Amino acid sequence: MSNRTPLMAGNWKMNLDHLEANHLVQGLAMALSDAGHDYSKCEVLVIPPFTDIRTVQTIVEADSLDIKYGAQDVSIHDNGAYTGEISTAMLTKLGCSYVVMGHSERREYHNESDELVGAKARKVLDAGMTPILCCGEALEVRKAGTHVDFVLGQIRAALAGWSAEDVAKIVIAYEPIWAIGTGETATADDAQEVCGAIREALRADFGDATADATRILYGGSAKPANIKELMAQPDIDGALVGGASLKADSFAQMAGFY
Ligand code: PGA
Repeated sequence: MSNRTPLMAGNWKMNLDHLEANHLVQGLAMALSDAGHDYSKCEVLVIPPFTDIRTVQTIVEADSLDIKYGAQDVSIHDNGAYTGEISTAMLTKLGCSYVVMGHSERREYHNESDELVGAKARKVLDAGMTPILCCGEALEVRKAGTHVDFVLGQIRAALAGWSAEDVAKIVIAYEPIWAIGTGETATADDAQEVCGAIREALRADFGDATADATRILYGGSAKPANIKELMAQPDIDGALVGGASLKADSFAQMAGFY
């Protein structure tokens, strides 16, 4: 058993307006409370669109909920003439504790490079929040059998020059692109193969303490039906959940995998 606290992270993507967000967070809080959820056994995180964050903050603070919240992306700039961007300071002011970067949808539709993803992670860590650094291969790469090297290459490029102490504070999310939103989950063995390789690469590059401390999530059609098997793998410390995080009961059930 590791002493890494499992993390169930709900990536809402571009879904739910602030009224719907209100409804979902209240429903989630109720479902977790009904289930007697033990937050020390699994941290629960929601990652709504920017426009919902203030609403989520209000509910979490008013009801003193243990649910954490964060953002799906962030700017590498501090402030100024960057139309459409959101800064780390704006997110910390709203009480965000995590920020996702390098999701395959942002890499694909916004041409985000490993270097930019690494710079975002640096910015987030420096602001006192936890980066969730996403990586994952496309189907062609998987078919060519080079997925492990591909994923390790993404991570090494993003974390080049980082200290072992800083790497130990981040979360890495392995999300094979062919499994995202497709209903096609990687098998627990497939997911473990890559998550295990990531941990061994961290061990080689940054040492045992960092490799043992860094949390690695799996993402890609994770749902109540497969979460237990995924969480039973030695190197999977949680999940980044898209579709199934939009339903309070399903997501609460996943957080209660233990
Ligand atoms: P999914 O999305 O659970 O809907 O496959 C996961 C993700 O992209 O974070």
